Amino acid sequence: MIEQVKGTQNIYENDAEKFLYVRNKFFKIFKKSGYSYLQTPHLEYSELFEKSIGENSEIVSKQMYQFNDKGGRSLVLRPEGTSSIVRYHSQNQKELTNQYSYFGQMFRYENPQKNRYREFTQGGIEIIGTIDTFSDFQIINDSIRFLNELSLKFSLEINTIGSIEDRKNYTKDLYSYFKLNEDQLSDDSKNKLELNTLRILDSNNAIDIPIINNAPDISSYINEGSIKKYDLLKTTMTQNDIAFKENSRLVRGLDYYNDLTFEFVNDDGLVLGGGGRYDRIADILNIGTFNGVGVAFGIERIMNSISIKIKPPEIYIIGVNLEKITTYCKLLENNDLNYFKPPRLSKINTQYKNAKNLDVKYVINTDEDTIKDLVNNTSIEFNIEVLIDN
Ligand code: AMP
Repeated sequence: MIEQVKGTQNIYENDAEKFLYVRNKFFKIFKKSGYSYLQTPHLEYSELFEKSIGENSEIVSKQMYQFNDKGGRSLVLRPEGTSSIVRYHSQNQKELTNQYSYFGQMFRYENPQKNRYREFTQGGIEIIGTIDTFSDFQIINDSIRFLNELSLKFSLEINTIGSIEDRKNYTKDLYSYFKLNEDQLSDDSKNKLELNTLRILDSNNAIDIPIINNAPDISSYINEGSIKKYDLLKTTMTQNDIAFKENSRLVRGLDYYNDLTFEFVNDDGLVLGGGGRYDRIADILNIGTFNGVGVAFGIERIMNSISIKIKPPEIYIIGVNLEKITTYCKLLENNDLNYFKPPRLSKINTQYKNAKNLDVKYVINTDEDTIKDLVNNTSIEFNIEVLIDN
């Protein structure tokens, strides 16, 4: 038997209903909020992520699905969306400030488990061009609109990580601190020490927690300009009744972030989505001087945090006469009615059983020209008005 690739998913039945539900809400809310959908390729040159996310980041150093194509080009299956949107912006919209949305599969070589997959779906929004605190506010406010539309319970955690220079100074001191306490760190954190010091702060390993709790805090490294911007955003959020918690350990692992970082966390502590400001990404990629802010949501994590009521189908059409059944199908379609049908003209009893299993209300028997009401257990001569009025 050919097995399924580890960490990938087949989304079907109830999960598929949820997936489509979340996707529809995503497009509804972000279209309403003024974001234009941009679909970028799943394949990009490795260089894009090596430069934007950073060669030492966990994603680039360990998690990319990277390969040489038959022409010898080094390609990756995209691990995230922002870099590609930025690439598009620089190629086609450099002079403008745009609001983008994206939705699709991402690929990361991670240890697969519930809520962590190797192929997963992200939906995200970005504002790119010349942006300010109002742009930061919009990304957060519109994200909340989306999460509320799904009736999700969540808390918002925010932080400022200052300029890239501030983060360098902080990382230097953090490194010295962890180096001094290296023998007390978990093996995983020890491995992050040299190239990925900041990521140690994300560790949930009980061995690391006391060391992390006593580590230097980024808040004392932030320059005045960044603090001012952060204060303005906090005031604006408070004025607009947006509840948030400050979390100075929220540094996020991608090199391109500066100033604002934030995450939406559900009641079980699961991170549903996160994002931040990226003022230097265009500079890092050497493609211009624009800046941006954005958020990405983990769609499977959102699916796993909601329950939805699926409306059962109402009408099932059965019959063994090809000409009759197709005529009835056409009639229902012309009246814009939703209906289900057997995949082929199997025995009438089998078709009827399938209809009952689906819990439909009406079965149209096209051989007998009748409608059977399965809820009231009555049968009448076929009459389209009964279905339309329902
Ligand atoms: P990130 O790009 O790492 O900030 O991820 C943004 C969001 O995508 C996270 O908050 C998660 O909800 C989701 N996510 C990231 N990695 C995975 C994964 N391997 N499996 C499922 N969801 C993920």
